[in-house]
Amino acid sequence: MVDVRPYKRLQHLCPQCGKNCPGYDRGGRPARTWRALDWGDVLVYLRYAPPRIQCPEHGVVTASVPWAYPGAHCPSHAHRLGNRPPVRRACQ
Ligand SMILES: [Zn+2]
Repeated sequence: MVDVRPYKRLQHLCPQCGKNCPGYDRGGRPARTWRALDWGDVLVYLRYAPPRIQCPEHGVVTASVPWAYPGAHCPSHAHRLGNRPPVRRACQ
């Protein structure tokens, strides 16, 4: 399990319009995990608790993270690599 966080300038992005919005709260919700590509025989999970933000257009929403598409369970670079076996494992 690897604890990660985006650069500060990327921590408050709206998942729908991509704008940088003011923070709403830290939520106190449990951290989310994303299944990343394995490091050899090591299973890798990314862990982070995204804050909620207040978008003027979309209201209070959970901020997006730069490494994954909204709602995805694995990082976007895994999608870009295609459907090879290690990627399939990560995206299941
Ligand atoms: Zn928005």
